Amino acid sequence: MRAALLSALVSALILIECGVPSPEARDASSDDRTEERARMVREQIASRGVRDPRVLAAMEAVPRHALVPEALSDRAYADGPLPIGEGQTISQPYIVAAMSEAADVGPEERVLEVGTGSGYQAAVLSHLAREVYTIELEPSLAARAAADLARLGCTNVHTRTGDGYAGWPEAAPFDAILVTAAPDHVPDALVEQLAMGGRLVIPVGPRGGGQQLVVLEKTAEGVTRETLLPVMFVPLRRDPEE
Ligand code: SAH
Repeated sequence: MRAALLSALVSALILIECGVPSPEARDASSDDRTEERARMVREQIASRGVRDPRVLAAMEAVPRHALVPEALSDRAYADGPLPIGEGQTISQPYIVAAMSEAADVGPEERVLEVGTGSGYQAAVLSHLAREVYTIELEPSLAARAAADLARLGCTNVHTRTGDGYAGWPEAAPFDAILVTAAPDHVPDALVEQLAMGGRLVIPVGPRGGGQQLVVLEKTAEGVTRETLLPVMFVPLRRDPEE
């Protein structure tokens, strides 16, 4: 009983930690851009139909401006994707919210993200899940995201450099998997690494257009598939060394 209470307390602390400044820090820097985030949630996310209160709260909490390149900081809360280097992009805030809602992540769940990029989606997931595992193919992006997530205090996010096509078998199974780059078909390894009842949220389609965001769910009767909306993601690349 006491252990359960302690664990609930610890997860509550983790939930409010990632990217959220302490009251003292907030006093010291008055500009943590809380109002811009509240407007982003209202005008770009809730208005387009995202309802999950935990997702909306996470989107309000995570400082997107701390994860985009400094030169683009003034556009951090704009309604679109932004370049993050190496030809990659941080997704539009609405897409991050819609994918998080579709993944339906509970506070005790473990989640895998493929395509760490800036670390923003991982930071949002860190508010929703117990543990987040995120894998990035491009070493320089992986290193920068790992450093940024550590700086923000996202202690329940585990980062790795590698080809997410194969998932993260040592940490599987996952209650949810989010893929933030588009393959032309759903990788088998990711479906295999879903727990029973687990959800895989993934953009699928040819590069440069025609992609759909789909949600697969592993059930006792098999894998169900639902198409959510048309999207445009960078391609999920294969590791050239494999
Ligand atoms: N989720 C990110 C946005 C990701 S953009 C964010 O919140 O900022 C897609 C990312 O997927 C890019 O950084 C790209 O380098 C990475 N990527 C592409 N193919 C990959 C693969 N096979 N495994 C892991 N990461 C991959």
